[in-house]
Amino acid sequence: MKQTLIGLGLCALLAWGIWRQPPSSPGVQHREFFAMGTLMQISFADPVPAGLMNRIQTELRAFEQRWSPRGDGELAQLNRQLTQHAQAPLPPVLRPGFVASQQACRSSDGLFDPGMGALVKLWGFDDESHFRTTPPEPETIALALAQRGKLCRAELDAKLSVDVPGAYFDFGASAKGRAIDAIVALLRNNGVHNAIVNAGGDLKAIGQRADRLWRIGIRHPRPQDAQDILASLSVKDGEAVFSSGDYERFFISEGTRYHHIIDPRDGYPATTSQSATVVHTSAELADAAATALFVAGPQRAAEIMGRMGITHYLLVDAQGDTHTSPEMRARLDGLP
Ligand code: ADP
Ligand code: MG
Repeated sequence: MKQTLIGLGLCALLAWGIWRQPPSSPGVQHREFFAMGTLMQISFADPVPAGLMNRIQTELRAFEQRWSPRGDGELAQLNRQLTQHAQAPLPPVLRPGFVASQQACRSSDGLFDPGMGALVKLWGFDDESHFRTTPPEPETIALALAQRGKLCRAELDAKLSVDVPGAYFDFGASAKGRAIDAIVALLRNNGVHNAIVNAGGDLKAIGQRADRLWRIGIRHPRPQDAQDILASLSVKDGEAVFSSGDYERFFISEGTRYHHIIDPRDGYPATTSQSATVVHTSAELADAAATALFVAGPQRAAEIMGRMGITHYLLVDAQGDTHTSPEMRARLDGLP
Protein backbone atom coordinates (compact mmCIF):
# COMPACT_ATOMS: atom_id res chain seq x y z
CA MET A 1 0.00 0.00 0.00
CA LYS A 2 2.69 2.46 1.02
CA GLN A 3 4.57 1.53 -2.14
CA THR A 4 1.61 2.78 -4.11
CA LEU A 5 1.66 5.95 -2.08
CA ILE A 6 5.35 6.48 -2.70
CA GLY A 7 4.76 5.88 -6.38
CA LEU A 8 1.94 8.36 -6.37
CA GLY A 9 4.08 10.77 -4.39
CA LEU A 10 6.62 10.77 -7.18
CA CYS A 11 3.85 11.86 -9.50
CA ALA A 12 3.14 14.76 -7.17
CA LEU A 13 4.67 17.31 -9.50
CA LEU A 14 2.28 16.24 -12.21
CA ALA A 15 -0.61 16.33 -9.81
CA TRP A 16 0.07 19.80 -8.38
CA GLY A 17 -2.82 22.10 -8.96
CA ILE A 18 -5.25 19.26 -9.48
CA TRP A 19 -7.45 18.09 -6.68
CA ARG A 20 -10.27 15.67 -6.70
CA GLN A 21 -13.58 16.28 -5.10
CA PRO A 22 -14.95 13.01 -3.68
CA PRO A 23 -18.66 12.71 -2.95
CA SER A 24 -19.55 15.14 -0.19
CA SER A 25 -21.49 14.35 2.96
CA PRO A 26 -24.01 17.04 3.91
CA GLY A 27 -22.31 20.28 4.90
CA VAL A 28 -18.79 18.92 4.36
CA GLN A 29 -16.64 19.54 1.30
CA HIS A 30 -13.50 17.56 0.54
CA ARG A 31 -10.41 18.52 -1.43
CA GLU A 32 -7.71 15.98 -2.31
CA PHE A 33 -4.25 16.37 -3.79
CA PHE A 34 -0.82 14.75 -3.65
CA ALA A 35 1.91 16.30 -1.51
CA MET A 36 4.62 15.19 0.94
CA GLY A 37 4.69 11.83 -0.83
CA THR A 38 1.12 11.02 0.13
CA LEU A 39 -2.53 11.69 -0.59
CA MET A 40 -3.67 14.75 1.33
CA GLN A 41 -7.31 15.38 2.05
CA ILE A 42 -8.81 18.48 3.60
CA SER A 43 -12.44 18.25 4.71
CA PHE A 44 -14.14 21.58 5.27
CA ALA A 45 -17.24 22.08 7.40
CA ASP A 46 -16.89 25.82 6.63
CA PRO A 47 -16.98 27.48 3.19
CA VAL A 48 -13.71 27.11 1.26
CA PRO A 49 -12.25 30.60 0.67
CA ALA A 50 -11.42 31.36 -2.97
CA GLY A 51 -7.76 30.78 -3.80
CA LEU A 52 -6.99 29.03 -0.51
CA MET A 53 -6.31 25.62 -2.06
CA ASN A 54 -3.77 27.19 -4.42
CA ARG A 55 -2.02 28.93 -1.52
CA ILE A 56 -1.89 25.72 0.50
CA GLN A 57 -0.39 23.81 -2.40
CA THR A 58 2.16 26.54 -3.13
CA GLU A 59 3.25 26.57 0.51
CA LEU A 60 3.46 22.79 0.64
CA ARG A 61 5.56 22.69 -2.50
CA ALA A 62 8.02 25.17 -0.96
CA PHE A 63 7.99 23.21 2.30
CA GLU A 64 8.67 19.92 0.55
CA GLN A 65 11.54 21.40 -1.42
CA ARG A 66 13.05 22.96 1.73
CA TRP A 67 12.86 19.80 3.85
CA SER A 68 13.72 17.16 1.28
CA PRO A 69 17.06 15.51 2.14
CA ARG A 70 17.79 15.20 -1.60
CA GLY A 71 17.61 17.67 -4.48
CA ASP A 72 18.33 21.42 -4.40
CA GLY A 73 16.52 22.66 -1.30
CA GLU A 74 18.07 24.00 1.90
CA LEU A 75 18.22 20.67 3.75
CA ALA A 76 19.72 18.89 0.74
CA GLN A 77 22.42 21.56 0.45
CA LEU A 78 23.15 21.30 4.15
CA ASN A 79 23.45 17.51 3.83
CA ARG A 80 25.88 17.93 0.94
CA GLN A 81 28.10 20.23 3.02
CA LEU A 82 28.04 17.79 5.91
CA THR A 83 29.39 14.93 3.80
CA GLN A 84 32.87 16.48 4.16
CA HIS A 85 32.56 18.55 7.32
CA ALA A 86 31.25 18.29 10.87
CA GLN A 87 30.00 21.89 10.60
CA ALA A 88 27.92 23.87 8.09
CA PRO A 89 25.86 27.09 8.03
CA LEU A 90 22.33 26.40 9.29
CA PRO A 91 19.84 28.25 7.03
CA PRO A 92 17.51 30.38 9.23
CA VAL A 93 14.47 28.88 7.48
CA LEU A 94 15.46 25.41 8.78
CA ARG A 95 16.37 26.47 12.29
CA PRO A 96 12.93 26.29 13.99
CA GLY A 97 12.37 22.77 12.63
CA PHE A 98 15.82 21.65 13.76
CA VAL A 99 15.23 23.13 17.21
CA ALA A 100 11.81 21.46 17.60
CA SER A 101 13.22 18.11 16.47
CA GLN A 102 16.23 18.45 18.74
CA GLN A 103 13.87 18.89 21.67
CA ALA A 104 11.96 15.76 20.61
CA CYS A 105 15.24 13.89 20.14
CA ARG A 106 16.30 14.77 23.68
CA SER A 107 12.96 14.10 25.34
CA SER A 108 12.68 10.75 23.52
CA ASP A 109 16.10 9.77 24.91
CA GLY A 110 17.37 9.67 21.32
CA LEU A 111 14.78 7.15 20.05
CA PHE A 112 13.58 9.79 17.59
CA ASP A 113 16.68 11.06 15.81
CA PRO A 114 16.57 12.69 12.35
CA GLY A 115 20.39 12.53 12.31
CA MET A 116 20.42 8.96 11.07
CA GLY A 117 19.34 9.64 7.50
CA ALA A 118 22.29 7.60 6.24
CA LEU A 119 20.74 4.50 7.84
CA VAL A 120 17.34 5.20 6.32
CA LYS A 121 19.06 5.51 2.94
CA LEU A 122 21.09 2.37 3.51
CA TRP A 123 17.93 0.38 4.28
CA GLY A 124 16.47 1.76 1.02
CA PHE A 125 13.43 3.43 2.56
CA ASP A 126 14.21 6.97 1.43
CA ASP A 127 13.25 6.49 -2.20
CA GLU A 128 11.62 3.67 -4.10
CA SER A 129 14.55 3.54 -6.53
CA HIS A 130 16.67 2.33 -3.58
CA PHE A 131 14.15 -0.27 -2.52
CA ARG A 132 15.82 -3.54 -1.53
CA THR A 133 14.75 -7.10 -0.88
CA THR A 134 17.49 -8.20 1.51
CA PRO A 135 18.96 -6.41 4.55
CA PRO A 136 22.31 -4.56 4.26
CA GLU A 137 25.50 -6.21 5.54
CA PRO A 138 26.03 -5.79 9.33
CA GLU A 139 29.38 -4.00 8.73
CA THR A 140 27.70 -1.39 6.50
CA ILE A 141 25.03 -0.84 9.13
CA ALA A 142 27.69 -0.37 11.82
CA LEU A 143 29.49 2.16 9.63
CA ALA A 144 26.33 4.19 8.95
CA LEU A 145 25.49 4.06 12.66
CA ALA A 146 28.92 5.45 13.59
CA GLN A 147 28.45 8.28 11.08
CA ARG A 148 25.11 9.46 12.35
CA GLY A 149 24.93 13.10 13.34
CA LYS A 150 23.07 12.70 16.63
CA LEU A 151 20.67 15.65 16.60
CA CYS A 152 20.34 15.53 20.41
CA ARG A 153 23.98 16.58 20.71
CA ALA A 154 24.26 18.93 17.73
CA GLU A 155 24.97 22.61 18.22
CA LEU A 156 22.35 24.73 16.48
CA ASP A 157 23.60 28.28 16.16
CA ALA A 158 24.33 30.17 12.95
CA LYS A 159 26.20 26.98 12.21
CA LEU A 160 25.15 23.41 12.78
CA SER A 161 27.90 21.32 14.38
CA VAL A 162 27.78 17.56 14.75
CA ASP A 163 30.19 15.03 16.27
CA VAL A 164 31.47 13.56 13.02
CA PRO A 165 31.66 14.50 9.32
CA GLY A 166 29.36 12.52 7.04
CA ALA A 167 26.07 13.15 8.91
CA TYR A 168 22.90 13.08 6.80
CA PHE A 169 19.63 14.51 8.14
CA ASP A 170 16.23 13.09 7.22
CA PHE A 171 13.09 14.58 8.78
CA GLY A 172 10.77 11.90 7.40
CA ALA A 173 9.47 11.24 10.92
CA SER A 174 8.40 14.82 11.75
CA ALA A 175 8.18 16.97 8.60
CA LYS A 176 4.66 15.83 7.76
CA GLY A 177 3.56 16.97 11.22
CA ARG A 178 5.26 20.33 10.82
CA ALA A 179 3.56 20.75 7.41
CA ILE A 180 0.13 19.93 8.85
CA ASP A 181 0.61 22.50 11.63
CA ALA A 182 1.45 25.07 8.94
CA ILE A 183 -1.65 24.20 6.88
CA VAL A 184 -3.88 24.44 9.94
CA ALA A 185 -2.44 27.88 10.76
CA LEU A 186 -3.16 28.95 7.17
CA LEU A 187 -6.73 27.67 7.44
CA ARG A 188 -7.35 29.56 10.67
CA ASN A 189 -5.78 32.76 9.30
CA ASN A 190 -8.17 32.52 6.37
CA GLY A 191 -11.28 32.20 8.48
CA VAL A 192 -11.64 28.40 8.35
CA HIS A 193 -12.35 27.14 11.87
CA ASN A 194 -13.99 23.77 11.16
CA ALA A 195 -11.91 21.40 9.09
CA ILE A 196 -9.72 18.33 9.22
CA VAL A 197 -6.38 17.96 7.42
CA ASN A 198 -5.47 14.36 6.68
CA ALA A 199 -2.13 13.31 5.19
CA GLY A 200 -2.29 9.60 4.43
CA GLY A 201 -3.97 8.81 7.76
CA ASP A 202 -2.08 11.31 9.95
CA LEU A 203 -4.28 14.28 10.72
CA LYS A 204 -5.18 17.40 12.66
CA ALA A 205 -8.70 18.68 13.31
CA ILE A 206 -10.03 22.13 14.02
CA GLY A 207 -13.49 22.91 15.30
CA GLN A 208 -16.02 20.25 14.49
CA ARG A 209 -18.17 18.72 11.80
CA ALA A 210 -21.60 20.37 11.95
CA ASP A 211 -22.99 19.60 15.42
CA ARG A 212 -20.49 16.91 16.47
CA LEU A 213 -16.75 16.33 16.76
CA TRP A 214 -14.70 14.97 13.87
CA ARG A 215 -14.50 11.21 14.21
CA ILE A 216 -11.66 9.09 12.90
CA GLY A 217 -10.60 5.45 12.74
CA ILE A 218 -7.20 4.18 13.86
CA ARG A 219 -5.88 1.64 11.42
CA HIS A 220 -5.38 -1.97 12.47
CA PRO A 221 -1.73 -2.92 11.80
CA ARG A 222 -2.75 -6.48 10.79
CA PRO A 223 -6.26 -6.11 9.32
CA GLN A 224 -8.33 -9.30 9.18
CA ASP A 225 -11.63 -10.04 7.46
CA ALA A 226 -12.14 -6.50 6.22
CA GLN A 227 -11.77 -5.31 9.81
CA ASP A 228 -9.21 -2.60 9.12
CA ILE A 229 -10.08 -0.23 11.96
CA LEU A 230 -8.60 -1.02 15.37
CA ALA A 231 -10.55 1.64 17.27
CA SER A 232 -12.22 4.97 16.69
CA LEU A 233 -11.81 8.31 18.34
CA SER A 234 -13.51 11.73 18.40
CA VAL A 235 -10.91 14.43 17.78
CA LYS A 236 -11.21 17.71 19.67
CA ASP A 237 -10.47 21.19 18.32
CA GLY A 238 -6.75 21.55 17.60
CA GLU A 239 -5.79 17.93 18.21
CA ALA A 240 -3.50 15.98 15.89
CA VAL A 241 -3.52 12.17 15.69
CA PHE A 242 -0.41 10.52 14.24
CA SER A 243 0.48 6.86 13.72
CA SER A 244 3.68 5.04 12.80
CA GLY A 245 3.51 1.45 11.68
CA ASP A 246 5.61 -1.38 10.28
CA TYR A 247 2.98 -1.86 7.54
CA GLU A 248 3.79 1.39 5.77
CA ARG A 249 7.07 0.64 4.01
CA PHE A 250 8.68 -2.75 4.36
CA PHE A 251 10.12 -5.80 2.66
CA ILE A 252 10.14 -9.41 3.83
CA SER A 253 13.36 -11.38 3.60
CA GLU A 254 13.56 -15.01 4.76
CA GLY A 255 10.38 -14.58 6.76
CA THR A 256 11.50 -11.41 8.59
CA ARG A 257 9.76 -8.08 8.05
CA TYR A 258 12.19 -5.16 7.62
CA HIS A 259 10.45 -1.80 7.77
CA HIS A 260 11.19 1.93 7.70
CA ILE A 261 11.31 2.78 11.43
CA ILE A 262 14.88 2.33 12.52
CA ASP A 263 16.10 1.86 16.09
CA PRO A 264 18.93 4.41 16.52
CA ARG A 265 20.55 2.14 19.12
CA ASP A 266 21.45 -0.66 16.70
CA GLY A 267 20.64 0.60 13.19
CA TYR A 268 18.02 -2.12 12.52
CA PRO A 269 14.24 -1.75 12.09
CA ALA A 270 12.68 -1.62 15.56
CA THR A 271 11.23 -5.00 16.54
CA THR A 272 8.95 -4.50 19.53
CA SER A 273 5.92 -2.86 17.87
CA GLN A 274 3.45 -3.12 15.01
CA SER A 275 1.98 0.36 15.33
CA ALA A 276 2.04 3.43 17.56
CA THR A 277 -0.52 6.25 17.73
CA VAL A 278 -0.39 9.50 19.69
CA VAL A 279 -2.60 12.54 20.17
CA HIS A 280 -1.22 16.03 20.81
CA THR A 281 -2.04 19.60 19.82
CA SER A 282 1.29 19.94 18.01
CA ALA A 283 1.22 17.74 14.91
CA GLU A 284 5.00 18.06 14.66
CA LEU A 285 5.46 16.66 18.17
CA ALA A 286 2.77 14.01 17.59
CA ASP A 287 4.60 12.83 14.46
CA ALA A 288 7.97 12.61 16.23
CA ALA A 289 6.39 10.99 19.29
CA ALA A 290 4.59 8.29 17.28
CA THR A 291 7.92 7.29 15.77
CA ALA A 292 9.63 7.38 19.20
CA LEU A 293 6.82 5.31 20.76
CA PHE A 294 7.14 2.70 18.03
CA VAL A 295 10.86 2.36 18.79
CA ALA A 296 10.30 2.49 22.57
CA GLY A 297 7.95 -0.52 22.50
CA PRO A 298 5.77 -1.62 25.43
CA GLN A 299 8.56 -1.70 28.03
CA ARG A 300 9.46 1.98 27.75
CA ALA A 301 6.22 3.39 26.31
CA ALA A 302 4.97 5.12 29.48
CA GLU A 303 8.39 6.49 30.38
CA ILE A 304 9.14 7.93 26.92
CA MET A 305 5.64 9.35 26.45
CA GLY A 306 5.87 10.96 29.89
CA ARG A 307 9.21 12.55 28.99
CA MET A 308 7.76 13.82 25.70
CA GLY A 309 4.67 15.32 27.34
CA ILE A 310 2.27 12.94 25.59
CA THR A 311 -0.74 11.92 27.68
CA HIS A 312 -2.70 10.04 24.97
CA TYR A 313 -1.07 7.08 23.27
CA LEU A 314 -1.88 3.63 21.93
CA LEU A 315 0.74 1.03 21.11
CA VAL A 316 0.24 -2.32 19.41
CA ASP A 317 3.21 -4.49 20.34
CA ALA A 318 4.91 -7.14 18.21
CA GLN A 319 2.49 -9.79 19.53
CA GLY A 320 -0.52 -7.68 18.61
CA ASP A 321 -1.37 -6.75 22.22
CA THR A 322 -2.48 -3.18 22.86
CA HIS A 323 -1.05 -0.80 25.47
CA THR A 324 -2.68 2.58 26.11
CA SER A 325 -2.46 5.42 28.56
CA PRO A 326 -5.60 5.58 30.75
CA GLU A 327 -6.47 8.96 29.17
CA MET A 328 -6.38 7.44 25.69
CA ARG A 329 -8.30 4.32 26.63
CA ALA A 330 -11.10 6.48 28.02
CA ARG A 331 -11.52 8.09 24.61
CA LEU A 332 -11.23 5.05 22.32
CA ASP A 333 -14.22 3.12 21.04
CA GLY A 334 -14.08 -0.45 19.81
CA LEU A 335 -10.76 -1.49 21.33
CA PRO A 336 -10.88 -5.16 22.38
P1 ADP B 1 5.46 7.80 8.14
O1 ADP B 1 6.14 9.03 7.65
O2 ADP B 1 5.57 6.66 7.20
O3 ADP B 1 4.09 8.06 8.64
P2 ADP B 1 7.08 7.99 10.54
O4 ADP B 1 6.52 9.30 10.94
O5 ADP B 1 7.24 7.00 11.63
O6 ADP B 1 6.23 7.27 9.42
O7 ADP B 1 8.48 8.28 9.89
C1 ADP B 1 9.28 7.26 9.40
C2 ADP B 1 10.39 7.90 8.61
O8 ADP B 1 11.24 8.64 9.50
C3 ADP B 1 11.29 6.91 7.92
O9 ADP B 1 10.90 6.68 6.60
C4 ADP B 1 12.65 7.59 8.00
O10 ADP B 1 12.75 8.56 6.98
C5 ADP B 1 12.60 8.31 9.31
N1 ADP B 1 13.01 7.54 10.50
C6 ADP B 1 13.02 6.18 10.67
N2 ADP B 1 13.35 5.85 11.93
C7 ADP B 1 13.53 7.02 12.61
C8 ADP B 1 13.89 7.34 13.95
N3 ADP B 1 14.10 6.41 14.88
N4 ADP B 1 14.00 8.66 14.26
C9 ADP B 1 13.79 9.62 13.35
N5 ADP B 1 13.46 9.39 12.07
C10 ADP B 1 13.33 8.10 11.69
MG1 MG C 1 6.47 10.20 12.80
